[in-house]
Amino acid sequence: MRDSRYDILFEPVQIGPVTARNRFYQVPHCCGMGHRYPQSMAAMRGIKAEGGWAVVCTEELEIHHTAELAPYLEGRIWDDQDLPALEKMVEAVHAHGSLAGAELVYNGHHASNLYSRAPPLGPMHLMTDCGDPVQARALDLEDIRNVRRWHVQAARRAKRAGFDIVYVYAGHDMTILQHFLSRRHNQRTDEYGGSLENRVRLFREVLEETKEAVGDKCAVVVRLAVDELLGEDGITAEGEGHDTVALLAELPDLWDVNVAGWANDSASARFTEEGYQEPYIKFVKSLTSKPVVGVGRYTSPDTMVRIIKQGIVDMIGAARPSIADPFLPKKIEQGRLDDIRECIGCNICITGDSTCTPIRCTQNPTMGEEWRKGWHPEVMPASSAGPALIVGGGPAGLEAAVSLGRRRLEVNLAEAREDWGGRVAREAKLPGLATWARVRDWRVGQLIGLPNVNSYLASAMTADDVLASGARHVAIATGSRWRTDGVGRFNHHPIDGIADVNVSSVDDMLSGRIPALGPVVIYDSDEYYMGGVLAEVSARAGLATIVVTPHSVVSRWTLNNLEQARIQTQLLELGVTIHAHRILKSCRSGEIELECTYTGRKETIECQTLVPVTSRLPEDGLWRALKARQNEWADAGVRSVQLIGDAYAPGIIAAAVYAGHRYARDYGEEIDPDITPFKREAIEVGAEF
Ligand code: ADP
Ligand code: SF4
Repeated sequence: MRDSRYDILFEPVQIGPVTARNRFYQVPHCCGMGHRYPQSMAAMRGIKAEGGWAVVCTEELEIHHTAELAPYLEGRIWDDQDLPALEKMVEAVHAHGSLAGAELVYNGHHASNLYSRAPPLGPMHLMTDCGDPVQARALDLEDIRNVRRWHVQAARRAKRAGFDIVYVYAGHDMTILQHFLSRRHNQRTDEYGGSLENRVRLFREVLEETKEAVGDKCAVVVRLAVDELLGEDGITAEGEGHDTVALLAELPDLWDVNVAGWANDSASARFTEEGYQEPYIKFVKSLTSKPVVGVGRYTSPDTMVRIIKQGIVDMIGAARPSIADPFLPKKIEQGRLDDIRECIGCNICITGDSTCTPIRCTQNPTMGEEWRKGWHPEVMPASSAGPALIVGGGPAGLEAAVSLGRRRLEVNLAEAREDWGGRVAREAKLPGLATWARVRDWRVGQLIGLPNVNSYLASAMTADDVLASGARHVAIATGSRWRTDGVGRFNHHPIDGIADVNVSSVDDMLSGRIPALGPVVIYDSDEYYMGGVLAEVSARAGLATIVVTPHSVVSRWTLNNLEQARIQTQLLELGVTIHAHRILKSCRSGEIELECTYTGRKETIECQTLVPVTSRLPEDGLWRALKARQNEWADAGVRSVQLIGDAYAPGIIAAAVYAGHRYARDYGEEIDPDITPFKREAIEVGAEF
């Protein structure tokens, strides 16, 4: 039963000509599927509608081939031939009584048009912001009329496809409408440049024309970045963000407001708290009678109620919380708050877009697998494949145990330590990563409701224990350890002389053993978050800290999850020295030798403690011991023993959770390694648009 305190979240909201059945609004978000994987996209959005989101939007839909984002996989609505793919999504969303929203976008000088080869168009002659050797051409008045017409045509197509909501999008510093608004991007001297009224002109025209074209049946909503966090150089909530809302206040049917660019809008939990956008967007409702949507990684229903009652928003916008738990609204509605799988704010979901691959999520292993594997986040079919033993209570083991438990199997889960969570228990103690404990907490919480799962702490398992356990199938989820010899992506052999220098391992630091002596050199060829965050730990402990990386920036892979700029800024502000383009070549007592990755030139720097963040080794000793006794398995009733998670191949937390979930889905089945284990979306050879 729902707690009456949350009734307000389930009130319907009128949005122009359509009605949302509650206040839960999945704002547009990328998913690395777009025009390339339309069935996957439709199924994923359909699950959100089933989970109770009253509005479910697309990712960006490019409206015209002169503004396309290849190689990134966004949606397309260039012409009618794109409609069947989008209609699938609309059907999937409508099937559960939700409204489908189409985010129409003309990217202007954010598009390099690498596929269409059309010169991009923007407010002025300017390099595109994508880093490609492509320059946008300043639109003349005829071009502007064309863009307006293309938007109207795309809106009409969206209406024909069945969308209930059509976006006019000026957010994220990625669209021509925001570029026209911005003094930084728009230095025109005609009626589209100069004063704010002139810079808003194109936005207003597109908005009015879209309403005129489809406003009878579709709500026409605006997405606007009301602050770019650039101070005087950009749009600000006190300045032109405020004035733009004031100028257009009653024109759209709803205001979807946020901060720009994308790295600010989707800032990770390492750098922002739930509700971090409130100070910027809270003015909007005072200027308009239309409903307002805002985002801020909201997962707490009490906070949701607060922001509605305080008049900050009318609808709870969410991308990441709806990815981590597509059934978040349903769970609040059914009074199942403990079942909400809260987003940890790690931004792995965003890396799908950055790497042009379908979305995945650390907390929700079914994300992106709804169509190709038929995985439903809330449904696990019952199994009678016999009792299971899971060794290891980290992300992989916990997920396997919970998911097998939901399959109604008898499960024993054994963990050697006195606490659950494996690596997340330790990593969540690092600065900014406290929310990562939710990976453990949600699963441990779920175990309480699964009497068929017996869980044991302080239970280090041996091969004898496993063979005496009575399990039919055994998963070994014993994790991994960080290497201390420097072997990794750039050093394929142990580093010369590493035994002569004082080494502090990543595992030492994760266990709270901070080096006693600086300078501390973090040698980071892993390139994800660990090197950067350990440098932060070391610097905050007052130690002189140096990061050595073979790349041009620290924590290079975090460019994909939008954290890199913040990480590097923070380290520089903490006084950390960064040696980029350097490989660690050799060590001597108190010093190390670095080599430039380009010239091969060598230099020596002082190093009292070396922390190699290079790669990990699986903790697979138990599995090897069991393998050596495979002839005893049948007598013990054991049919299979399988390594999963980091113990199989060390990876990111999302990969371990996924491995645990996959183990549970495939439990007891003979898997043919010659067969691709998922459906693929066919490209029909010979077919053409
Ligand atoms: P993953 O990310 O794959 O889940 P983790 O390293 O986070 O891996 O977790 C592995 C867990 O397995 C750790 O908590 C560790 O204490 C536990 N473990 C390792 N060996 C054994 C063992 N022999 N018996 C029980 N638990 C073990
Ligand atoms: Fe949240 Fe991380 Fe999942 Fe994205 S990947 S939805 S940030 S838990």
